[in-house]
Amino acid sequence: MRIFDPHIHMTSRTTDDYEAMYESGVRALVEPAFWLGQPRTNVGSYIDYFDALIGWERFRAAQFGIRHHCTIALNPKEANDPRCREVMAHLPRYLVKDGVVAVGETGYDSMTPEEDDILSQHLALAVEYDLPALVHTPHRDKVTGTRRTLDVVVESGLPVERVLVDHLNETCVDMVADSGAWMGFSIYPDTKMDEGRVVAIMQRLGLDRIIVNSAADWGRSDPLKTAKTGLAMLEAGFSEDDVDRVLWRNPVEFYGQSGRLELAPVPGFAPAQQGPDTFEGNSVLRGMASRRAV
Ligand SMILES: [Zn+2]
Repeated sequence: MRIFDPHIHMTSRTTDDYEAMYESGVRALVEPAFWLGQPRTNVGSYIDYFDALIGWERFRAAQFGIRHHCTIALNPKEANDPRCREVMAHLPRYLVKDGVVAVGETGYDSMTPEEDDILSQHLALAVEYDLPALVHTPHRDKVTGTRRTLDVVVESGLPVERVLVDHLNETCVDMVADSGAWMGFSIYPDTKMDEGRVVAIMQRLGLDRIIVNSAADWGRSDPLKTAKTGLAMLEAGFSEDDVDRVLWRNPVEFYGQSGRLELAPVPGFAPAQQGPDTFEGNSVLRGMASRRAV
């Protein structure tokens, strides 16, 4: 199984996670800029975080054989904090960097006027810098938030095929499917969406524009949920090629629109393989290569 995790916050994860992810087949990922839990009090805090995403975390992932990319934005929750909004002026210089593959994650948290304004600014930046956009849906009042998100996307002029609407569930997936945007599912241990539910959605809607991620972060979450979803697909009768499409080709197609994906194997590490033997095959190689600096 080869896996591209299109939404995972590695800054909050350990080296054990990187090793386990590699072993499960993860060879590339996207880390969206997000809220750290502790509110930021100034723009400098954001700048250091962005620099860590494009620098340190990219380097750290490569130590474990995984290609790291990121998305850059002011997160929706902090769009409401005047101490953070100034960071919008700094986004353009990050949006031209290698490894920055989209604007995001943007979208709504509480659906305030400030969030409306910042979402529109983010989508305008995606148009200007010719990048896709990662837009998440709010945890509360998801249906209203998703509908409003899709309206703002249409107004922005950003083509819908360059928009990934994330954290979807059964209540809002159909309107995103109808819109032509990509559909993202975050698979969590006990909230939002689980493996069985997303597989049921795949059986109903097919695999076009379907993307699955672990969205693992500092909360209760599991960086191996992508692999576990692949296994759940196989158990439900999907083919290995179907799994490869959802876990690798679909996210590669979406983020490939940036023109900035780096998918060649990290020197010293094995290319991702398809098929169930990958677990054993990779674990042997990992033991020899995981401490090699690149
Ligand atoms: Zn996230």
